[in-house]
Amino acid sequence: MALEGRNAVVTGGGRGLGRSIAVVLAAHGAAVAVWDLNAENAAETVAEIQAAGGKAVAITADVSDSGAVAAAAATSRADLGPVTVLVNNAGISNYVPFAELTENQWDRMIDVNLKSQFLVTQAFLGDMLEAGWGRIVNISSSSAQTGAPSMAHYAASKGGVIGFTKALAIELAATGITVNNVPPGFVDTPLLREGFDVPEVAKRLPMKRPGRPEDIAHAVAYLASAEASYVTGQTLSVNGGRYLV
Ligand code: NAP
Repeated sequence: MALEGRNAVVTGGGRGLGRSIAVVLAAHGAAVAVWDLNAENAAETVAEIQAAGGKAVAITADVSDSGAVAAAAATSRADLGPVTVLVNNAGISNYVPFAELTENQWDRMIDVNLKSQFLVTQAFLGDMLEAGWGRIVNISSSSAQTGAPSMAHYAASKGGVIGFTKALAIELAATGITVNNVPPGFVDTPLLREGFDVPEVAKRLPMKRPGRPEDIAHAVAYLASAEASYVTGQTLSVNGGRYLV
């Protein structure tokens, strides 16, 4: 899965899944712009990539803010060149019973998890069209496939990601750009630990273990590769058998 000569952006690359995705793409040869809200975490990811001999830059940006996205896209392009691999990974999650859900909580979830993917994808579409080649991988969630209590706003945002992926895949199918999504199941990251007793929940999973960030990263690397050129609009569920379609 050679990615030599490709420039990639991974949003939310400062920790969790995003860090692992950035590290794995770089190990396959991509130069990676690691975007995150948290500058220190993004710099740590970059240091890990550089220590392994890869190329990466850290960029601080809030992906829900169109001005910040435009500035970060310009910096990424200036630092690395045109970007033809995009992983829309940044996201937030929280648990609120629907009756108590506020308009602000709903809007924030949609802005960070869904609007961001529209903004960042549009920012790099021109680079991909010009290259006649592109890979867009959107991180969704198994909770959009199964539903989950106290997560109506989260599941709605991630269901939106799946629909966005399919529509864009068809619209861009003849351009050399593929668009796919990966819905993680239950992957051991800082975000997950905020909401769950991970070892306890893992006992109820088919494989009796949580996902590892690299389980997701390898699936993303495949979808980002030249070898996946005939795969578009798909949902590649990496969930240890938690949800089967
Ligand atoms: P995480 O550990 O919280 O990492 C998410 C990263 O995104 C953090 O570095 C965070 O920065 C960053 N981020 C959040 N809001 C941002 C914004 N507005 N602009 C830029 N960066 C932002 O979460 P994770 O578990 O790795 O999740 C990554 C993705 O997978 C998310 O989209 C999540 O919904 C999805 N997912 C995860 C699981 C799972 O089991 N872990 C399951 C299903 C889906 P800060 O640290 O500064 O907040």
